[in-house]
Amino acid sequence: MNLIDTHAHIYSTKFDADRDQVIEEIKEAGVERIYMPNVDVETIDQMLDCESRYGDLCIPMMGLHPCDVKEDFPQQLYVMEEWLGKRSFAAIGEIGTDLYWDKTTFEIQKEALNIQIGWAKKYALPIVLHCRESIDETIEIIEKAQDGSLTGIFHCFTGTLDQAQKIIKLGFLLGIGGVATYKNGGLDLVIPSLGLENLVLETDAPYLAPVPHRGKRNTPAYLPHIAQRVGDLVQVSAAEVALATKANALNLFKEITV
Ligand SMILES: [Zn+2]
Repeated sequence: MNLIDTHAHIYSTKFDADRDQVIEEIKEAGVERIYMPNVDVETIDQMLDCESRYGDLCIPMMGLHPCDVKEDFPQQLYVMEEWLGKRSFAAIGEIGTDLYWDKTTFEIQKEALNIQIGWAKKYALPIVLHCRESIDETIEIIEKAQDGSLTGIFHCFTGTLDQAQKIIKLGFLLGIGGVATYKNGGLDLVIPSLGLENLVLETDAPYLAPVPHRGKRNTPAYLPHIAQRVGDLVQVSAAEVALATKANALNLFKEITV
């Protein structure tokens, strides 16, 4: 299979003990690219270290995660904007909103998101969006900001068919991860009604491991389980899912070939 993991924190300290071996397993599983979402200023060095060690496999993004938008967010954004001026990144991410962990920061989360959407427009980059218990709110923000130039992924999509259709209409892709393999994950009711042209695959490693590894540390090497599940839901082979979603990912991240 030729798989692209559009969202994995492979630079996480959870891989420090055995990252070389994990990278070998990832390659054996047929994963050709891992797009790495940044989290905050503290994760930048680890992320760029993975990029330099694993060459073409690990590609960094730049952005401030909504759960890390605190009082110091202007300083964090300042550092990140400097990075964007210095070198290239595949996307602005992961950015967005989160009403699950901390509702009290919602106003500054929105402020930080809108600033980072501005970067995406300035540098003509896609955005990778995190929204937890805040899909409708995030769709509304993107609707307002969409001037025809914004593209990206609603990462870890777990919404309804109606929300999926709104996102597709906005010109965005749905990031499908381990939740698709969970009983009661709800995506079995949504994915069969969506075309493969609207989907990309992701693991969100080290989080959200797919069945049959649910509850363990997740790795991009488990991506075939997600491709298989999506294939079962839309009644095509996992290899066809891999090819279609790879094309979508490369097109979004403006890469011609892997
Ligand atoms: Zn993430």
